[in-house]
Amino acid sequence: MYGGGQWGYRPVPTMPITYDVYVNVNPGPPPNRFHPPMNPSEQLLHYPLGDAMPAQGETLVVAAGDGSGLAPAVKWIRMALPFALDHINLWLLRDEDEDGRAGWTVVDCCITRDESKAQWEQVFATQLEGLPILRVIVTHMHPDHIGLAHWLCKRWDAPLWISATDFNAAHTASLSTSGFGGERAASFFAAHGLLDSDSITKVRGRATYYPSMVPEIPPSFRRLQDDDVLRIGGRAWRCVSGYGHAPEHMSLYCETLKVLISGDMLLPRISTNVSVYHIEPESDPLRLFLQSIDKFTRLPADTLTLPSHGKPFLGLHERVRQLHEHHRERLAEVEQACARAPQSAADILPVLFKRKLDLHQTTFAMGESVAHLHALWFAGRLRRRRDGDGVYRFAPGSGCVDRS
Ligand SMILES: [Zn+2]
Repeated sequence: MYGGGQWGYRPVPTMPITYDVYVNVNPGPPPNRFHPPMNPSEQLLHYPLGDAMPAQGETLVVAAGDGSGLAPAVKWIRMALPFALDHINLWLLRDEDEDGRAGWTVVDCCITRDESKAQWEQVFATQLEGLPILRVIVTHMHPDHIGLAHWLCKRWDAPLWISATDFNAAHTASLSTSGFGGERAASFFAAHGLLDSDSITKVRGRATYYPSMVPEIPPSFRRLQDDDVLRIGGRAWRCVSGYGHAPEHMSLYCETLKVLISGDMLLPRISTNVSVYHIEPESDPLRLFLQSIDKFTRLPADTLTLPSHGKPFLGLHERVRQLHEHHRERLAEVEQACARAPQSAADILPVLFKRKLDLHQTTFAMGESVAHLHALWFAGRLRRRRDGDGVYRFAPGSGCVDRS
């Protein structure tokens, strides 16, 4: 991960890692906080900005406007997160409203906490050229993306644009006392072999995890759907839906600028979290994720990809190839393990995660583990059996799931 503390904040040790627990993070400590080591996959990508990144409360232009003297089209904001994943990238797009009033569209928001609001205040004071925020676009419902949408929308009297599925999922999760933890999540993990009482107690106690970072959702929204074209600052930006990471994630592509705001669907350094959750316990998100990222191969090879975590990069076709390869290898390892003896999701954690996981990471990694088993189960490579101890175990054989 990138070095912590570069903005003077201290990671909060009691907070769990966010939903984004990643499989292929380079586990070695960075040589220094500004130059984390690249893993071999990353070295095949190109970072046109080098190690440049915006300082706290500042922005960095990543796409200039057309012609000389025009306002920059896209500016990069990097905000601190109190997780192992220690930052999120947000984007400011030069825009104008229907009355021709100049301003900015924001893409993604950071979690709700005082430090994030303070960083936004700095941006408002120094980076907006005296112009207002006109709208707030959110790629998906995870807390680091939607957390402060309520605050930004209220403060600027700006509408929220998001997919209907993620709007509703965020609403439910922010109101719920079960969130992404609680009793039902604990039973789900136990049914997949997570039996030690410490872990189960932690999951049970995480009932207010989501609302703690997303206490509120704006009361209304503008719906984003696949292939919708938004006019932002006179340029067309097309929505590209993605599944498997969030219910209905929206990336945004601008052909004029050859820029893709990929959200969490395409990250340069770490693989996107793809998990089965208790709310949809028999889903196959890995298949959905891999199908979704194939859409990016239709974009030009020299598209500049702006990810939510990590640095802007060139090489999105290579990155899609790497992710397919990465999951193909993990699936082969999982299948081999199941051929030796029937495996639960908890059993295969060490197969998928080569580094040591703490308790918090373990509980989130379980979702990824179930996702890999389910991909093989739905593909007819494994069958599933619930043993006398109530735990699902997977073994070679044809799955009982019909996907006709
Ligand atoms: Zn996410």
